[in-house]
Amino acid sequence: MNCQEVVRWLTDYLDGELDATLLETLEAHLRDCDDCRIVVDTTRKTIELYCRCEPLPLPPGVRERLDAALARRLSQRGA
Ligand SMILES: [Zn+2]
Repeated sequence: MNCQEVVRWLTDYLDGELDATLLETLEAHLRDCDDCRIVVDTTRKTIELYCRCEPLPLPPGVRERLDAALARRLSQRGA
């Protein structure tokens, strides 16, 4: 699994809806990848914040912002 795939499965992961194989693969990646741990952490906190008010999934635009932030990190690392 790479960072893009982690982002793709992120909401399912946080919702506890990943199947066991995917879950294991994703958590193995998280152990090795600081960037994705931060993304997961931030997103989980964002969701918890929203859940206190109303039971909504990720607000619109969050996924796009995460994608953009991750792309920036990856390109910086590659530079
Ligand atoms: Zn990663």
